[in-house]
Amino acid sequence: MAYPAYQLIDKGPAQRVDLTDTDLPEGDVTVDVAYSSLNFKDGLAITGKGRIARSLPMVCGIDLAGTVTESASSDWKPGDQVVLTGWGLSETHPGGYTTRQRVRSEWLVAKPAGLALAQTMAIGTAGFTAMLSFLALEDAGVRPWSGPVLVTGAGGGVGSVAVAVLAKLGYEVHASTGRAETHDYLRSLGASAIVDRSEFTEPGKPLGTERWAGAVDTVGSTTLANVLSQTQRAGAVASCGLAGGPDLPATVMPFILRGVSLLGIDSVMCPMPRREEAWRRLAADLPLPMLDSMTETHGFDEIPELADRILAGRTRGRVVIAVQ
Ligand code: NDP
Repeated sequence: MAYPAYQLIDKGPAQRVDLTDTDLPEGDVTVDVAYSSLNFKDGLAITGKGRIARSLPMVCGIDLAGTVTESASSDWKPGDQVVLTGWGLSETHPGGYTTRQRVRSEWLVAKPAGLALAQTMAIGTAGFTAMLSFLALEDAGVRPWSGPVLVTGAGGGVGSVAVAVLAKLGYEVHASTGRAETHDYLRSLGASAIVDRSEFTEPGKPLGTERWAGAVDTVGSTTLANVLSQTQRAGAVASCGLAGGPDLPATVMPFILRGVSLLGIDSVMCPMPRREEAWRRLAADLPLPMLDSMTETHGFDEIPELADRILAGRTRGRVVIAVQ
């Protein structure tokens, strides 16, 4: 039986290929993949514009959701519905842009009750990362009464989920975007103020006016430096993205004069107890009508075009890939 896949074969863009059982990698659980999703990193991988794969050939797709068909692990049995994000999918282990994949049992999370399989990929790596960012802020003591929380790159996948979760939990959410056409959308997710992206793109003062108790930053670079300098005393900023660049042209002033904390977020190697907690919280704290309103679903054939769109900043919210 042939399994269609998007695979990186050389340094160019990914190619559509047909794989067979003999192409499946090492692993103790085989999954019939029903859905994957499109994340910024997938855009980099599919187009060949980012060096995501550490070896070739490599099936793209950093996440997947599907049904177990074979298992040599006592933890999973055929018929179980499972979700996998990160753990090197599409980097060191073939990923979710295919109809069948073999993976390691310890990477899998059971589909949370209350979410349909498609909804787990509407959340996907981006939504999972948004929840990890939120949990980090919560652990740092940021609460609804602490003050407003800023989300940068709010119109994107991580940003949209972060806005919806924070608003649902009673936070005053300020959403930063560069796209006027997302304003109504961001308000519909619960943002109470919109901040234009251009406020953060020029270098600012080492210490600016205190504006936010916390922030989820998906942009990095000068944006993150400005957000840090405008964070309230004892506030916290979760850094999870680099849509604006990987550098950080900042000073230590917010840290040493205001006790601001910079919290790093890595969804790929996140330990299993934290993963399970994040999925539990997503099932509880992300309103499903909001999730549905931020999600578009596309077919397998559209992956190359979608990859160009996400790199150009022209996707809104989350994109599910219906693999089967
Ligand atoms: P999206 O493309 O969906 O969202 C990114 C958003 O950032 C865009 O929608 C846009 O928002 C904004 N943006 C894009 N380009 C720029 C720019 N040049 N300057 C300022 N803002 C910009 O991507 P994802 O939500 O999937 O990912 C967001 C970031 O998070 C990426 O950098 C990704 O690599 C990272 N990430 C990190 C993870 C981790 O484990 N740490 C896991 C998942 C993602 P708007 O139009 O509203 O301004």
